[in-house]
Amino acid sequence: MKKSEVIVVGAGIAGLTSAAILSKQGLSVTLIESHTQAGGCAGTFKRKNYTFDVGATQVAGLEKGGIHSRIFDFLDIPSPEATILDPACIVDLNDGGNPIPIWYEKSKWIAEREMQFPGSQRFWKLCTLIHESNWIFANNNPVLPISNFWDFSQLLKALVPSNLVTGILLKSTIFDLLRICGLSKNERLIKFLNLQLKLYSQEDVYSTAALYGSTVLQMCQQPHGLWHLKKSMQSLSESLESSLIKTGVNLIFGQEVNSKKKSFIYQAKDVIYTAPPQSLLKHLKDPLERKKNYKNRLNNLPDPSGAVVFYSALKKEHIKKTFSNHYQFVSKEFCSLFVSISDDGDGRAPKGEVTLIASIFTKTKDWFDLDKQTYLKKKNGFMKKISLELESQFDIDPEKWLHRELATPLGFEKWTKRPNGIVGGLGQNPDIFGLFGLSSRTPFEGLWLCGDSIYPGEGTAGVSQSALMVSRQILASKGIENFSL
Ligand SMILES: Cc1cc2nc3c(=O)[nH]c(=O)nc-3n(C[C@H](O)[C@H](O)[C@H](O)COP(=O)(O)OP(=O)(O)OC[C@H]3O[C@@H](n4cnc5c(N)ncnc54)[C@H](O)[C@@H]3O)c2cc1C
Repeated sequence: MKKSEVIVVGAGIAGLTSAAILSKQGLSVTLIESHTQAGGCAGTFKRKNYTFDVGATQVAGLEKGGIHSRIFDFLDIPSPEATILDPACIVDLNDGGNPIPIWYEKSKWIAEREMQFPGSQRFWKLCTLIHESNWIFANNNPVLPISNFWDFSQLLKALVPSNLVTGILLKSTIFDLLRICGLSKNERLIKFLNLQLKLYSQEDVYSTAALYGSTVLQMCQQPHGLWHLKKSMQSLSESLESSLIKTGVNLIFGQEVNSKKKSFIYQAKDVIYTAPPQSLLKHLKDPLERKKNYKNRLNNLPDPSGAVVFYSALKKEHIKKTFSNHYQFVSKEFCSLFVSISDDGDGRAPKGEVTLIASIFTKTKDWFDLDKQTYLKKKNGFMKKISLELESQFDIDPEKWLHRELATPLGFEKWTKRPNGIVGGLGQNPDIFGLFGLSSRTPFEGLWLCGDSIYPGEGTAGVSQSALMVSRQILASKGIENFSL
């Protein structure tokens, strides 16, 4: 039996970050990953001459003071090379109006949104006020939800007076803010917000928590911004792995925890589980019988979305002039597609070529329990339909594709071990966000949760914040109280 103080299950960004922080603080850490490489949903795969980002394609929190940046500084490792996305995305509602570039520069974005959505200024100002209050709170490292006195003390320390005002919106949605601002009938604005919020909160305007939505709607602008990594998304994991190597973390790849192919036993007082909590049930059968309420809670978590992702490559000259790395457009067939295009020469494709990745949300249950023939037919059908949508949107000659392939929830389940290939975390509605979410503490002593189902939610920046939170909780349980970044 091999022993360490902490075992981390999963080397996605949540697992890498928590292992790196705890090891840097002097704890002995073993990190176990079922895949042969790190990164999880923020990893990459290679095909022919191309490197494709599996899931995440853009990164928040790399600016000075942003969560990734703070963690890199603390670990004393360089940030991966990245460029700011400006515009972060161009959203085409395909309604006859001009596409909407989401500019990085604040004044440019204010002018753009006033032109695109006349009379919406009050709504954006309200979002900004809420976001500014949220941001101070988040940077004070709160623990949410609270499960014991220590968590409560951290929450109190993080609170600032403006949180008491925005706190009255705890149970409100983005639609409530629109209503307050007299914009509840502004169809174009609602359509735009629905597209953007679905990407970041898995919910639409009617269900996204006002406190969460107000912040994600400001992430593309100064002083924050979204970033495009050079080479590939893998460079984020590689940076974190360099810290693990420096501090002597026992890194084990190709080993699924509790798989049928059992070969080793590892022991630790604390275990951080970074796979989705829905998959905990299969690891904790007997104890869960005795902890019925927790079992029910996990069983009754709302159904998260799945994704179908199209990975392709083209000569740069064969895509209509593009002005952004990211596009989101309305489609009759799929509601919307989110598209990420690499930069020529950024390392993802040979010179003169680019990778183009397009993703849509899907219900995971539509893909399972199909016989092989039906599954392949469905998959081919999606491949054709997505190709057609992209050819029409970007004026691509169908003969010019250099590479095309598709991942469905089955592929995501195999790659990331996420049950049924669910992606992102839990939908950030007022019943789940913040105080009402799933805690990183579990009823099992020494078992902790971390990742995109835990506060503050999905994205590489979100899971890094949750990794920091769980690391602080574990350190505090060992008497290391005054740790902060
Ligand atoms: C299509 C798509 C697009 C996205 N786009 C963006 C984006 O542009 N920007 C952004 O910030 N976020 C994006 N996200 C979300 C983001 O990728 C995730 O929220 C984040 O990467 C999740 O990190 P994690 O460490 O919590 O989980 P994961 O990445 O799922 O990592 C968990 C790890 O645990 C391992 N594991 C699971 N079970 C076991 C086991 N039993 N034993 C050992 N190992 C195990 C898995 O192999 C995996 O490596 C996207 C996600 C998807 C799917």
